[in-house]
Amino acid sequence: MYPATALQALIIGGSVGGLAAAHEMRAVGAKAAVYERSAGRMEARGAGIVMQDLLVRLGMSAQSVSVQLHERQQLNLDGKITRYTAPQLMTAWDTLYRALRDPLSDVCYRLNSTLGQVRVEGSEVTAEFADGYMARGNFLVGADGIGSATRRLLEPAVRPAYAGYVAWRGLEPESALPKELLELLVGRFTFFVSDGLQMLCYLVPGPDGELAERSRRVNWVWYTNVPEPSLPRLLAGRSGTTFTTFLPPGQILPEIAAELLATADVSLPPQFTELVRRSEVFMQPVFDVRPHRMVADHAALIGDAAGTVRPHTAAGTSKAFGDAVGLAAALRGWTPDRDLPARQLADWERERLSHLLALSRAGIESANRSSLGTAGARRFFALA
Ligand SMILES: Cc1cc2nc3c(=O)[nH]c(=O)nc-3n(C[C@H](O)[C@H](O)[C@H](O)COP(=O)(O)OP(=O)(O)OC[C@H]3O[C@@H](n4cnc5c(N)ncnc54)[C@H](O)[C@@H]3O)c2cc1C
Repeated sequence: MYPATALQALIIGGSVGGLAAAHEMRAVGAKAAVYERSAGRMEARGAGIVMQDLLVRLGMSAQSVSVQLHERQQLNLDGKITRYTAPQLMTAWDTLYRALRDPLSDVCYRLNSTLGQVRVEGSEVTAEFADGYMARGNFLVGADGIGSATRRLLEPAVRPAYAGYVAWRGLEPESALPKELLELLVGRFTFFVSDGLQMLCYLVPGPDGELAERSRRVNWVWYTNVPEPSLPRLLAGRSGTTFTTFLPPGQILPEIAAELLATADVSLPPQFTELVRRSEVFMQPVFDVRPHRMVADHAALIGDAAGTVRPHTAAGTSKAFGDAVGLAAALRGWTPDRDLPARQLADWERERLSHLLALSRAGIESANRSSLGTAGARRFFALA
């Protein structure tokens, strides 16, 4: 039972950042409710997750939810291979999502809830959703990702800036791949780097966390430089919708799929070309969001809503988690009948913004080293 004066946190966005916030808010004695835009099953958007510290924090062993790799291998354009020992554990977005979601069965998690407006009166915060539903609480946590509606309300001038390249992706059942290709990929982090592109691949658990042979999935990401004017053409979906930040599986237009394969044929090692050919491809352009603040009156931003880091750092999820841990600690002991702990929130904001800046710089340097998003590098899918 919560005391009558307990803080009620309204969390916008029910992905890993929002779920982490719900855990951390509860851990400091607050009530939490999560409001998620998706209407049904959450799609695996960050397919592979190269980190496990969150799972350990949730009391789970990293091994129990991860695929073990033992080597790294670099492919050449002609298909030749260089290998070296590099043990690593790999899990997947949906595995992590379930690990966070399952222990929260008693927490309100409302689907089909797209945030529209927020009103703050004294220490009462009201969130209004597109379907007319209203939720009342005392503190709003914006964990609604790169296109954050919460950020638009708090910092309207900050917009995601396209980084100059996109991530084509695939997440295929290993059982669907031919034996020789699978033998090459199992147990290894496989990569290829060339001017204006980079591709990497590794196995992750199956859709329900399966770790047994034949039930895992092969996760790949292929970054290519793409000029910004080409984005609407590549993000146009079969359903007629033109997406902005994520082209979901099943939506790629047949002519773009054909162009992608033709590009793979001439610019990837044959093993990777075969993988692309056999995959249901989805795509995410890479964006940078550089905020100046994370705290407003009775509200805060966390995770990608607060600011993004390039995917090469594989740190976006742990940054979201770290934001949630620190925010809950700053609000520990606060009850809505008192003034907000302004100094603690300001300290949290300063520390997290400086962490974000360091990660963001490291990610940009890593992308530059692979000529991703850099001026003068090779570009693909340019308009004729
Ligand atoms: C190609 C690529 C590869 C990556 N690989 C890795 C990796 O290996 N490891 C890693 O740690 N990170 C990786 N990342 C980054 C990682 O995916 C993100 O940092 C992480 O998902 C951020 O989580 P989040 O909860 O803040 O945001 P999101 O996961 O984007 O979740 C935001 C949620 O808010 C909901 N929402 C949006 N708008 C509203 C609204 N108005 N109202 C209500 N709900 C709303 C959305 O539906 C969504 O569920 C990768 C990113 C990319 C692009």
